[in-house]
Formats: sequence, C-alpha cells, structure tokens
Amino acid sequence: MRTFAIALATGAALAAGCAGSPPAGTDDASPGGGDGRPTDGRLPDGASGLEPGSLNVSWMHGSQNCNQNADPAIQLHSYNATTHILRQNKCNTFEAPFVYVLVGATSALMLDSGATQATALRTAVTPLLGGKPLLVAHSHAHGDHVAGDGTFNGQPGVTVVGRTRAAVQAAFGIATWPTDAGTLDLGGRVLDVLAIPGHEAQHIAIYDRQTGLLLTGDSLYPGLLFINDWATYRTSMARLAQFAAAHPIAHVLGAHIEMTATPKVNYPYGTTFQPNEHVLQLAAAHVAELDAALTALGPTPPAQPVPHDDFVIDPR
Ligand SMILES: [Zn+2]
Repeated sequence: MRTFAIALATGAALAAGCAGSPPAGTDDASPGGGDGRPTDGRLPDGASGLEPGSLNVSWMHGSQNCNQNADPAIQLHSYNATTHILRQNKCNTFEAPFVYVLVGATSALMLDSGATQATALRTAVTPLLGGKPLLVAHSHAHGDHVAGDGTFNGQPGVTVVGRTRAAVQAAFGIATWPTDAGTLDLGGRVLDVLAIPGHEAQHIAIYDRQTGLLLTGDSLYPGLLFINDWATYRTSMARLAQFAAAHPIAHVLGAHIEMTATPKVNYPYGTTFQPNEHVLQLAAAHVAELDAALTALGPTPPAQPVPHDDFVIDPR
C-alpha cells in the first residue's frame, strides 16, 4: 500500500463542486446497457455498502460548427462530494477526454491531465481539493491523457507521476508488473491500482473501494478500443475481468465516449459533434463481455473491428 499524505487534512469542507448549468435537455437514458440499473446511475439502496453518487448529467458534446460553440473549456460533474468527473470541450480537442478527481481525508488523486495545455483544468480542479495535496497520475501515457501535466508541474502541493513504468510502479507500489496490483491510500479512501497494458504499455486501471468506481482509461470505454499489443491486452482484460467479478462495481468509467446511443454504432473518429452519444458509464458486465470476446477471438487479432453494443474492439 502506498500512502500519499503529505499534509494532514485541515478539516476544511470540500466544495461540492457544482457543475454550473449543464447543457439543456438532461439525457439519462441508458442505451444498450441492459444491466437493469436505475437510469440515474445509482445502485439500488443498500445493495453494496458503496458510497453512492449520481451520473445524472448531460455531457457537453461539441458542436456542428465549433465557431459557434459556447460551452466552457471544462465541464465539471460531481458524482458525489468527493468524487468528480471533468470533461474537456470537444471543440477544443476532439478527444474530449474525461478526467477523474478522487478526494480522500488527507490527499487527492487526479487521473489524467487532459488533451490540452490550457490552465482551465487546473482552475476547475483546485477548488475541489480543499487544500489537500494532489497526486496527478495517468491512465496511460498517450498525449490526450498527459498534455496538461505542465500546468500542474511545480504547483504547490502537487506531485505529477512520471510516465515510465518504473515511475508508475513506484507511485502505486506495484511490485511485479503487470501481475501485482498496487494501492494508494488517500486517507480513509483506498484505491487499488491494476496494471493493464495492451492499449499502451504503461496503462493502469484504478478501483475506488469507497464508491466502487472502476476507472479504465482507454482500455474499456464506450468507443473504439484501440489495441496495440493484442496478446498483452487479452491477458490484461482477463485479469481485469477477474478483479471486477470479485469486487462490487458501481460503474466502469473510461476516458472517452465515441459510441452513439445506437448499439454497435460509433461516431467517426475525430468528430467534434456527438449530439446523441452513449452514456459514459459501463458496467462490470461489460468487462466480462470484453474478456469473453477476446477469449473467443483467440490469439490472432481480427482483421476488422468487432462492434459490440457498447464498445468496438479495434486492433491496430
Ligand atoms: Zn490512449
């Protein structure tokens, strides 16, 4: 277990982090999910002992004409008072990645620093921290997940994890890569950190024991799952599926949305307008579905992308 606790909590109440006015027309439909959960994203009461949160949010999703886009650079949605999800504006970066901030009693973690070098992300995140030290880590080292590092480097109370495997292992106490899990204690809030290379060599997943959120970066999200190393990815997803089956999972949250709300249909890569996009959240069943599909496909990657209702397996 690694503890990231430089300073004791001051007891300052965390700002709840109001998202401001979300885009009109809240859409909490759950296309193709079929996991039977209430559509506001909450687990049934008393189902798990997990701290609940809400995914009842309409994400900003770009514009047909980005010159007329009036959305902010960053949309903030607070899942609960200590769990925050931020999305970048698709008109600033078509990747429009999601960034996660988890705040414990003594410190906070931010997963990914976004796809731009603008300071808007730091401006949005700082008030969520209640003055606690922040560890900036990355789901993986691709540019759209690390581009904002420079705006956090050198800031008071901020540590940015390096992008090498050694740096990631050291930050989370992962003894043997990739088979050992690591942990990070934010103060009464322990995260499990799993090495899941395959999309990218230093890719990790983070499981928050407090909320049951499983953060899967680019390895699993409602979109095109680009797989650089097929054999490694298959092994990683098998390990992730095993983990997900053994832990209560509230939601599986990745770093992008690229699917439409229509099963098996994704937006063209690079689009800056997704007016009818899939919800962000997937479920533990999707991890099992992905693992089973990879097992069935076998050791040789398919020549063509394999669309599923809520994601597309896309070997490169
Ligand atoms: Zn990536």
